[in-house]
Order: sequence, then C-alpha cells, then structure tokens
Amino acid sequence: MENDDYTPEQVQAMQQDMWASMNVNELADLTHALNRSVGWWNEYDEMPEKYRKHFIAGKLALVHSEVSEGLEGFRKGLMDDHLPHRPMVEVEMADAIIRILDLAGAMDLDLGGAIAEKLYYNTQRPDHKLENREKDGGKSL
Ligand SMILES: [Mg+2]
Repeated sequence: MENDDYTPEQVQAMQQDMWASMNVNELADLTHALNRSVGWWNEYDEMPEKYRKHFIAGKLALVHSEVSEGLEGFRKGLMDDHLPHRPMVEVEMADAIIRILDLAGAMDLDLGGAIAEKLYYNTQRPDHKLENREKDGGKSL
C-alpha cells in the first residue's frame, strides 16, 4: 500500500498511535532523533567537549521553563495556544517531558529503567507512607 493511499490526517493519527505505544526509552531515542534532525543539537556537536556540560545544563534549565509555563496556564485556566483544544498545563507538561526525553536520548540514559526503579523504591519508603506523612514533621506535600 502506498503512502498516498492515506490522507495526511490518517498518517498523523497512525504516527501518533505508534508513538503513544512506545516505551520510555524508545520515546527518548525518538525524541532525541527528531530534535537532532531539526538542528537542536548542532551547536553541541560543534562545540569543544569542555563546554558541552554547560549546554546540557542549559537544556536541563529549560525543563524548568516548561513547568513554569504550565503553572501559569493552570493558574489562569488557559487553553494552549499551539494546541487550542488542550489545556495549556497539559501541553506544557508534555513539553517538559519532551525536553527530559530529549536529554535522556542524548545522554543515553536508561530513563525508563530509572522511572520503574524509583516508582518501586518510593512504594517502600517509610517517609512516603500515609501514616508517617500524617505525623508531626511528616511530609505534607
Ligand atoms: Mg512550552
């Protein structure tokens, strides 16, 4: 079957379905490949090795900016301006995760493994148990 048997909307829907079924590490590799393909890593590739840590630090800081944008959207009850059918907080949270996935792909991190391990670890933490959180000095947030 040729690609022109499908409408652009059908191709987009199939692509999004495929991406939605990927695991975290596959999404990290995809995200990084997509970002690399449009030049978001060109400066990194061209800079001396000794400066690359600062580039990575800047990329990590940009995760903050997406979370802050999400907070503003949530605080003001805004819809997103790029995807106006979605709440801004939802899209900015996606942007934050996309930035994290991009970095995980660039740094060849096992983000999926770390998430699974940390989720399990958190279930075992005494300071995360409800009875301990409700005590004086317990974590309320
Ligand atoms: Mg954003």
